[in-house]
Amino acid sequence: MKKYFTVGPSQIYPTVPQHVITGMDTDIMSLSHRSEDFKRLFQHTVDSIKQLLNIPENYTVLFLSSATECWERILENCVVKDTFHVVSGAFSTKFYEASVNMKKKAQKYEFHGQNFKPSSISQDCELITMTHNETNNGIMIPMDELYRLKLGLPRALIALDMVSSTPYVEIDFKYIDCTFFSVQKGFGLPAGLAVLILSPAALQKARDVEGLNRSLTVYRRFSSMKTYADKQQTFETPNVLYLYLFSKVVKDMLQKGIKTIREETQQKAQLLYTFLKSSPRYSVPQQNPRFRSQTVIVANVKHGSAKILTKLKDKGFIVGGGYEKMKDHQIRIANFPAHSVEDVEELIELL
Ligand SMILES: *Cc1c(COP(=O)(O)O)cnc(C)c1O
Repeated sequence: MKKYFTVGPSQIYPTVPQHVITGMDTDIMSLSHRSEDFKRLFQHTVDSIKQLLNIPENYTVLFLSSATECWERILENCVVKDTFHVVSGAFSTKFYEASVNMKKKAQKYEFHGQNFKPSSISQDCELITMTHNETNNGIMIPMDELYRLKLGLPRALIALDMVSSTPYVEIDFKYIDCTFFSVQKGFGLPAGLAVLILSPAALQKARDVEGLNRSLTVYRRFSSMKTYADKQQTFETPNVLYLYLFSKVVKDMLQKGIKTIREETQQKAQLLYTFLKSSPRYSVPQQNPRFRSQTVIVANVKHGSAKILTKLKDKGFIVGGGYEKMKDHQIRIANFPAHSVEDVEELIELL
């Protein structure tokens, strides 16, 4: 069996194959999305993810198809005009570009991993966006920086992309209004499902914006999604299998304990960084440990990454290359809950 250390899609969480079989045995794929069984599954999924991530009771959990979709839905539902974007890599750039494409007045602050100092944010700013963990370059922004931003601009909503750091990152949700992730990274599931968590303030803003944005179709409105979510359903016919698998993996993670998962993540990150820094072949691009990712380990490779990646592949270890123009110069190693300490030790041995 191959081991996928790619950053997404990544290694499947170890219990997933058994859950697929159980799902088949219980006819999950034929389950009506208006049935009582579905409503129970929906509610159970919402309750479990709230418990795992410590999401406040009065926040709303919605299911969408991708993080990319979340960027657009948040912008069209929660913003009339002004946005501000902390841009720390490829994915936060895409969030910023989505705002530009939607003809918003988008400002940005570029962060390169030293001295986090976003400034001159307009007092009219309606939404500030940030990516907690940049999957292309391994820059991570500590949550207290985001909380500080919110305290300085209490009227702005905060949107946080936490795709490649959930469930590792611990969040105080009272500072954040729109939080989202897709499941093919930290949850070890196939792609195609995203979770969007909205504060009461985000939903209120969405209701205000709805009256002004006439092009926003009913299906894309947070208010319609919320109406259905309150009935433990989705507007459209959802992929019930994905929801089922997600609920099962969250349950497994609850059983393992989020504290253990977080500690193991740190332990594996430490093993990897210690090795990479001690080896003459590799170096770590993010100098400041305060802004260095724990879940996406990026390393420069002195004589190019292609040969190493091929050798690893021959041994059954699939590791990611660098992102776009760094493709041949870096490797990226995912450190998600599906990766065991033993897998990481074995990988280090091979590296
Ligand atoms: C992978 C990724 C995305 C995109 O996720 P999709 O589910 O493909 O839309 C967005 N943000 C970050 C930080 C990512 O790592």
